[in-house]
Amino acid sequence: YPTAFDAIIIGAGAAGLFCAAQAGQLGLNVLLIDHAEKVAEKIRISGGGRCNFTNRDLDVRAPHKHYVGQNPQFCRSALSRYTPADFIALMDKHGIPYEEKHKGQLFATTSAEDIIRMLLAECADGGVTRWQPCAVKKVVFLPSSADTSSAGSYEVHTDRGVVHAPRLVLATGGLSIPKIGATDFGYRLAQQFKLPLVERRAGLVPLTFDGAAWQPYAQLAGLALPVEISTGSKKERMTFHEDLLFTHRGLSGPAVLQISSYWKDGAPLHINLLPGTDMAALLQAAKTHSRKLVANELAAHLPTRLADAWVSQQPELQRPINEASDKALTKLAEQLQRWEIIPTGSEGYKKAEVTLGGIDTKALSQQTMECKTQPGLYAIGEVVDITGWLGGYNFQWAWASAFACAQAMAQQ
Ligand code: FAD
Repeated sequence: YPTAFDAIIIGAGAAGLFCAAQAGQLGLNVLLIDHAEKVAEKIRISGGGRCNFTNRDLDVRAPHKHYVGQNPQFCRSALSRYTPADFIALMDKHGIPYEEKHKGQLFATTSAEDIIRMLLAECADGGVTRWQPCAVKKVVFLPSSADTSSAGSYEVHTDRGVVHAPRLVLATGGLSIPKIGATDFGYRLAQQFKLPLVERRAGLVPLTFDGAAWQPYAQLAGLALPVEISTGSKKERMTFHEDLLFTHRGLSGPAVLQISSYWKDGAPLHINLLPGTDMAALLQAAKTHSRKLVANELAAHLPTRLADAWVSQQPELQRPINEASDKALTKLAEQLQRWEIIPTGSEGYKKAEVTLGGIDTKALSQQTMECKTQPGLYAIGEVVDITGWLGGYNFQWAWASAFACAQAMAQQ
């Protein structure tokens, strides 16, 4: 094996593969290392096996709108230099079919495998050396001596021996789905080099509720409906219009996955189960001409199982609507349109699509992704404290941050 490279990239996921390919094609001799058996497992399982690889709705002038972190503006530079159109052009170049689904989300039509094959072909074009599976045991920084031009060198101790490069890229991703290779390696290495970290927590994750309080809704597992969901105090309130899914332990679906990235422990969620409807007026109108049970009237606007479960908790509503009091109907409308619930927690990294937090963007250059205090050390993709919304935004961040890093390394 050769022992000296221009750049060593740890993590052959979305960001690592793309960065390796770009840097290789720009003339760098690149080594890409991953400890997992299979390459890019997260791409493989993403988007239900069809990888939602970007989002056409990303506003390249204000991309930070779709990202969460201590400083979402950080992602602006990279995302405006490598846009969804650029990745689409790459898909077209490789003849990979894709299709648009909900809200600008682009998916591979056939399989996420097509995208993995494309990234591997791009790496081959760049002459990238890939060692996988290969564990990294430790990294040592050797500061420059007077007779070398580089700022120093990274000595990476691996299963296959010791390798050196003046540039080291951390592309080890987040903590979600540990069973396919996620580790805290990137954060530990950041600590070794004294980079600040933002606290990590699971994002884009189903939320759970207290066993007893959740009892009436547990029977609704599998039921989905469009809702408006929000959390946070007035100034920082976030709202999404998406589908909500009931599960055995709580709530999921795009609405809850999106809001989970903004939800803070102990804070309530507000859910309007009937967005765009004036339920109070509809119930009052029904009271004047209908003798149907309240649950049956509700079922005209909500899934029947949900209407039944809701009314079954309230004896004053278990009667024909014309016999229900105005007060009870007003309260019912309010509850349905401003359902307030406090999650007990989340399903955690086992089920989360992403990890919030990570390497503090304060430590990095937004143009190059290089650490300000550690020359030649770069961090890209999910290991950085930038997390996208559901819908292809996380992969777009992986591609864009990888591109910025590769360009910078090649120009160095
Ligand atoms: P990863 O792709 O996770 O790659 C990190 C790599 O580092 C892995 O290959 C891992 O094996 C390797 N690694 C970790 N530790 C070590 C170590 N110690 N030594 C060596 N190698 C190491 N995002 C979207 O935009 N669209 C989607 O459709 C989508 N669907 C998703 C579905 C699921 C179920 C999940 C879990 C996530 C999904 N995401 C989606 C998020 C997206 O997959 C990630 O944000 C993205 O993969 C991050 O890219 P990355 O390269 O930073 O990290």
